[in-house]
Amino acid sequence: MKKLACVTLDMEPDYGDPEKHIRLLENPEFLETYASIINKHGAKVTMFTVTNLFETRGGDFKKLAAHIPLEFSVHSHTHDPRNACSLVEVRNSREAYRNFTGTKPLGYRAPIGRINRDGLAHLLDHDFEYDASVYPSIRPGEFGYFNLHMPNVPFRVTRADGKSLVEFPFTAIEKIRIVFALSYAKLFGWGLYSLFLKLFGLPASTLLLSHPHDFYFAAIPNNTIRGLERAALSRNSSRAFAYFDKMLGVLKQKGYEFVFVSELHSQVKDKDLQEFSWEEWK
Ligand SMILES: [Zn+2]
Repeated sequence: MKKLACVTLDMEPDYGDPEKHIRLLENPEFLETYASIINKHGAKVTMFTVTNLFETRGGDFKKLAAHIPLEFSVHSHTHDPRNACSLVEVRNSREAYRNFTGTKPLGYRAPIGRINRDGLAHLLDHDFEYDASVYPSIRPGEFGYFNLHMPNVPFRVTRADGKSLVEFPFTAIEKIRIVFALSYAKLFGWGLYSLFLKLFGLPASTLLLSHPHDFYFAAIPNNTIRGLERAALSRNSSRAFAYFDKMLGVLKQKGYEFVFVSELHSQVKDKDLQEFSWEEWK
């Protein structure tokens, strides 16, 4: 199969910022640097958007769309980790997406990967065609998961009533299952992370994960995140744009073509994907 890569950006307020700024949109220097990296590599961005931002940030999104190839997808309505894929969130996000774009949303990404069986049912009931919320990796802590049994490639979730959707798990580096995300490149540092990429590689369909705050986390004033998490997210903060540039460079060098997630979806949806039955979803 052709190697296809999607740059995904989870559009949400800056993590830990009590004032809920989104500096990637507000700071012209950040915005220009971001756009210049995307365009330099001929990349395309699928923006999983917290849909209540369409009302308050719609103008900023249109500005961004004028700078780079951009498509919208859904990242819940309010980004409440305890309510990540409830019926109300799914319904409201679908409605807000439709109001802003004039079309129905194809895909959903639950906050912090907190998709579950009920959430998948809501997505199937509301005709979502893909979900992009499963981490095929490990995370400790309150919102943790242990998902090494999950595939690192797109798969299908099918329900007995004949409905199905494609799941795009967060791509991890093969074998060692470290997430292909700007935050992880910053955590390990480029020397080690690029060595992992070289040694173990990425699957043929790859989604790169990023958030606005990944680009400048340490520069967020009055940040409420403390302790280890703050230290981890602050590492190599001033190198974030340079790392992002390198990550896109690696994809290009490995022969990936950049596509939107919707394009990847139309490439894989009729393929013979591994199937998981919704009834047995844990
Ligand atoms: Zn998020």
